[in-house]
Amino acid sequence: MENGSGDERQRYAALEMTGDDFRSVGQQLIDRIAEFLDELPHRPVTPGESPSEVRSALSGDTLPNSGTTAARLLEAIPDLLFEHSLFNGHPRFWGYVTSSAAPIGALADLLAAAVNPNVGGAILSPMASEIESQTIRWLAELLGYPTTCGGVLVSGGNVANFVGFLAGRQAKAPWDIKTRGVVDHGRHLITYVSAETHTWIDKAAELFGQGRESVRWIPVDDDLRMRVDLLRAQIEQDRADGHVPIMVVGAAGTVGTGVVDPLPEIAALCKEQDLWFHVDGAYGAPAILSPEAPPELQAMQEADSIAMDPHKWLYAPLEAGCTLVRDPHHLLGAFSHHPVYYRFDETTEQPTVNFYEYGLQNSRGFRALKVWLGLQQAGREGMVQMVSDDIRLSQAMHKAVAAHPELEAWTQHLSISTFRYVPEDVTPGTPEEDSYLNELNEKIVERLQHEGEVFVSNHVIRDQYLLRACIVNFRTTLADVLALPEIVVRVGREVHAEMR
Ligand SMILES: *Cc1c(COP(=O)(O)O)cnc(C)c1O
Repeated sequence: MENGSGDERQRYAALEMTGDDFRSVGQQLIDRIAEFLDELPHRPVTPGESPSEVRSALSGDTLPNSGTTAARLLEAIPDLLFEHSLFNGHPRFWGYVTSSAAPIGALADLLAAAVNPNVGGAILSPMASEIESQTIRWLAELLGYPTTCGGVLVSGGNVANFVGFLAGRQAKAPWDIKTRGVVDHGRHLITYVSAETHTWIDKAAELFGQGRESVRWIPVDDDLRMRVDLLRAQIEQDRADGHVPIMVVGAAGTVGTGVVDPLPEIAALCKEQDLWFHVDGAYGAPAILSPEAPPELQAMQEADSIAMDPHKWLYAPLEAGCTLVRDPHHLLGAFSHHPVYYRFDETTEQPTVNFYEYGLQNSRGFRALKVWLGLQQAGREGMVQMVSDDIRLSQAMHKAVAAHPELEAWTQHLSISTFRYVPEDVTPGTPEEDSYLNELNEKIVERLQHEGEVFVSNHVIRDQYLLRACIVNFRTTLADVLALPEIVVRVGREVHAEMR
């Protein structure tokens, strides 16, 4: 408590900053970030360094004993990050479904951290909790989902799907799973997903005690969509075996290829069979806004729960996922330990939602602010424009790939396109040549990911290794996508020459 001045009202704290200190350090930091944003398109997508190169850029391996001023730290640290990072905000970043981040989101996170509300409890975060509630209503409105739904912001698509899974399981299990667990006299609670479902379902089945054998991976048709006839047959088989079907997961854009499952048929089957209908829209849900998207996406509006990811196609900085649940009681049923006091009848003043009762977390940060501000900066129109442009750019990329004699275009759905390099002296179709092409294209992806000119990822369809470009990026231009074929072919020729 020593402060040297003898004034009991003052205290020295190593982490405190005065307003003046904050202003001068903060202004410099903001200037550096502004320069970085302007330079971004001219930097490589990634420096492509090895882990040990990255590690050696970090000095000092022991915890400092004495402190350093914020001014000195923030002078040096921006370059450390700018020089040794992969930039998913680069116009030519098309790897995985990770988006460019709206700059307003960075400012929102700064403001959110400065106020630092704990959005677990309403009493600790009066305005932040209301803003999160409004954000959830707006996200529902954006998707055409009832705005009377319950919802919660989470870290991302994995947890958003977990929350839908847990709410659905609680709603449909015929016995008290909170007390008795998830197996009853050998009867298991069964979940149905398409073979193209993201790995979150494995984690959910493993971590929440149902086990992976409780998941039925329904085969897909030639267009990679869930076979609803096989889904129905499997449900009937499970009932005959004494198990308890509870839930079907439909994809509103699979992570691999952007395929939309036959959501209207799945919705109808769930209604008929009294099953929970969960939609994994972590990637594709916002495509419902676009005239370019398949009309089947509209059936997402019939779901009991939807997982979506504002940090994907709503361009919020990481992390922001969201679960929407048609009937808010089902969220409280799964996550609240208290009698339900929240009134849904709108007859009296509604208490603010206590978000700890709606999900897995207790203390919670103010993720909503960046999503809420992004939605307002763009407006519905701005969001529709960006998402639709991403889809059109992906279509243009696919056309350009298809037009190149050394590239083979495979799939194009929403804003994901898959393709591979096939050298002129290789004819696909024999096991030897196919396995050579797999190896060749895998090496092309590795080299592209290392060199930093463009960044793509991969997918495997019918045992063929493919390059995969996902445009969830408001900085990508037509010139960027039209540059892709030549870059892939140039690298492809190099790798082919080395391998043969
Ligand atoms: C990205 C994705 C997930 C996982 O989301 P995270 O935000 O990475 O946790 C789940 N499902 C689909 C369809 C996805 O695209």
